[in-house]
Amino acid sequence: MKELVVATGNKGKLREIEELLRGDVEKLLSPRDFSSFPVVDEDGLTFTDNAVKKAMAAAVATGKPVIADDSGLVVDALEGRPGVYSARFAGEGAGDWENNEKLLRELARIPSAERSAAFHCVVALCFPDGTCRTFEGQLRGMIIDTLRGSEGFGYDPLFLVPEYGLTLAELPLEIKNRISHRGKALADLKKFLMSSRPR
Ligand code: IMP
Repeated sequence: MKELVVATGNKGKLREIEELLRGDVEKLLSPRDFSSFPVVDEDGLTFTDNAVKKAMAAAVATGKPVIADDSGLVVDALEGRPGVYSARFAGEGAGDWENNEKLLRELARIPSAERSAAFHCVVALCFPDGTCRTFEGQLRGMIIDTLRGSEGFGYDPLFLVPEYGLTLAELPLEIKNRISHRGKALADLKKFLMSSRPR
């Protein structure tokens, strides 16, 4: 694909997506490349609703194909919270530190064996004509009780990947991208781009 806009202002997500699409897209653009870029209210009840809403608004505004990621952490002991509210779990404008603190507080009485969780990601690809496709990925793990590691972003320092015995913030980006919810969704997007490429 020649040109693709990645509709995210989240630097952690952008870094991962740029790394994952390297070589598959000639020119990756982000909101920084436009003098104005639509800001949407992420009021959908599902990751899919929000991903499509973000990608569609940007595709119509820029006249280019756009991908948007909506993702979050689903904690079993919290009946699926924070889910679509992951970015603002500790309140509007909250940062990663506050969100992680709140997660630890809410799970304080939950034994470690019952702290299972999953990251979910939906990537929407939308075109200026209003057509969209979505791609999904998940990663299961456990929430630990202290922050570990300095890579990644968001809840990575609390998310233990049992197969590695390490948190996502302790794993190099190359491994995170191979196993993550976002990596899986983008692997499917890449398959789609390859299969729809003009021969
Ligand atoms: P949104 O998709 O912009 O609504 O926000 C997703 C939020 O989910 C982020 O701000 C993080 O808090 C969390 N999140 C999503 N993906 C990841 C990840 O790969 N690692 C850690 N946190 C994530």
